[in-house]
Amino acid sequence: MTLKQRITEKALELGFADVGFTTADPLDLYIKEYETRPEMYDWTKLGGLDLKQGAGLAQNHPWAKSMVVLIYNYHQKHFPADLVGKYGRCYQIDDRIAQKDWVLAIINFIGFLSEEGMQLHQGEEIPARMSAARAGLVTYGKNCFAYARKSMMGASWLVSVPILVDAEIEPDEPSIEVGCPKWCKNACLAACPTGALYKPKKMNPLKCIPFNTYYAPGITAMELREPMGRWIYGCDRCQQVCPRNEPWMNQVLPENPPLMEIAGDFQPEVILTMSQDHYENKIMPLMFYIPKENIGKWKMNAARALGNMGDTGHVPILAETLADNPDETVRGMCAWSLGRLGGSKAKAALESRLPGEDGLVKEEITLALEKL
Ligand code: SF4
Ligand code: SF4
Repeated sequence: MTLKQRITEKALELGFADVGFTTADPLDLYIKEYETRPEMYDWTKLGGLDLKQGAGLAQNHPWAKSMVVLIYNYHQKHFPADLVGKYGRCYQIDDRIAQKDWVLAIINFIGFLSEEGMQLHQGEEIPARMSAARAGLVTYGKNCFAYARKSMMGASWLVSVPILVDAEIEPDEPSIEVGCPKWCKNACLAACPTGALYKPKKMNPLKCIPFNTYYAPGITAMELREPMGRWIYGCDRCQQVCPRNEPWMNQVLPENPPLMEIAGDFQPEVILTMSQDHYENKIMPLMFYIPKENIGKWKMNAARALGNMGDTGHVPILAETLADNPDETVRGMCAWSLGRLGGSKAKAALESRLPGEDGLVKEEITLALEKL
């Protein structure tokens, strides 16, 4: 058996959906795309990731000769109905803290490569989707997501894992191309609530809901609040509506009891009033992009989601939070949501808080009352 065959066999045995191979040459197309609009990518440096630098591959790791790329299907089970539409699917099963599932498979795979005597590097700074496309594993959707080419019924619910190695391995045929059917008239673009998908194959991460739910600083921009709807962390609407995902979504998948058990911890009313202990011990083990010092960001997202749900039954919890939360972005968003929900109780809550507030919260209350 050749090295390539042994690697392929091991990856499939560990549960990866597919494995491909490419060279360690720089990802030139990625670098070129980055350079045309650096203002849309530079925010990734805030999280310590320099993707343009990472795309250099062998320029950063001169010993590297090839890249092994794995794809893992994270939609093997059904997602709880009361999390779908509020939390992006990939975050609901993020294994990077628990390391029991796909991260464990990566660890085992890396162990296997080491036992094969290889020097290797795996890091999040390497652009994953472009690596998978150059290894022939995926094609692009016009929504910028990667869709499996030979596995997973062609679905996009995948994590790509590029690993640089020092062995010469014959590369696979690249598939850096759009794989959408001609008859789909850009359903993803039409469905994107914020206009982040501004033309086929072009997405502005700064308008994308995931960025705004976890990275954007301060109170959410007014023009994004309604379009962001019920999403609290992440968004997968442009994948949900995509016909390329239909075959996978039309299956009856097994339930995920551990996820169903904790779904209650993630409901917006619970998030809005959660303690620091709840945040650190129940939320952060799964969703950890927002620092533990910024619980207010979570509560602001929950307040906005409740406002967009249109249920006036949420007025009391928003009014209480407007009265007693120490974070002005949370209070400001509660004011906005009360204005959006409307009704006499919401109006009374806003009016009662107006005299005691100043700055951002006073502005938000004033705007909310004007709307009423
Ligand atoms: S919705 Fe249509 S255009 Fe968009 S990614 Fe899916 S198939 Fe392609
Ligand atoms: S993830 Fe959501 S906000 Fe971002 S491009 Fe897709 S639909 Fe638009």
